[in-house]
Amino acid sequence: MSNTLNHLLDRNVAWVDRKTADDPDFFRRMAEQQMPRYLWVSCSDSRITANDVLDLDPGEIFVHRNIANVVHSSDMNILSVLEFAIEGLKVEHVIVCGHYGCGGVRRALANERSAMVDHWLQPISMLYLKHRAVFDAIPDEAARIDRMCEINVEMQVRRIAATPIVEKAWARGQPLHLHGWIYALHDGLLRDLGPHLSAIEEREALPSIDHRVLHPAEAVSAIRRQALDAFSALEPCC
Ligand SMILES: [Zn+2]
Repeated sequence: MSNTLNHLLDRNVAWVDRKTADDPDFFRRMAEQQMPRYLWVSCSDSRITANDVLDLDPGEIFVHRNIANVVHSSDMNILSVLEFAIEGLKVEHVIVCGHYGCGGVRRALANERSAMVDHWLQPISMLYLKHRAVFDAIPDEAARIDRMCEINVEMQVRRIAATPIVEKAWARGQPLHLHGWIYALHDGLLRDLGPHLSAIEEREALPSIDHRVLHPAEAVSAIRRQALDAFSALEPCC
């Protein structure tokens, strides 16, 4: 068996051929400048790639991914991405996108303590342990994990909203909107879970994350509404 990856390099050439056949100037434009309006923060899971699920071209979305889309206030990686996206690229929207059935969230709920990733997942496992009775009352394991996947999205949106980078942008009047979404692997659809935050006052007005855990119906109704909207948008218009 060959130890080269020529099959991938061949696919790259075929992709370039397709792109230039459709749009001869595509790579010239890409080489000149990127002007993404969005920053995407999602899980490293191989099944959720921003450009695919949003049907966007390269250059249209700036991306950061890690296991279970966790935002650590000491993570130089995400802070550098956030700073460059907001202050350099002037993105208008930051989207935290989790996904149902997230393996990282599953591990956090299993309360493992044996690997580096368990340190990484600690914010999720800490929230789970704090509200263990609430989560464990959900009898179906997949539903329990999915519920934490939703809560995790909101927690990470709040963590981004709490960074000095975002606070400074809002303070100087830069348009910047934070969004919490979740992706369903089984149907390919995104759901807008919220919160939507565009100012420090909106962040301060949010009920606590503990409130969100204790009142799941609010989030569930939002998910159902979004799911219905998504499905109705798929109806043929004529
Ligand atoms: Zn995941």
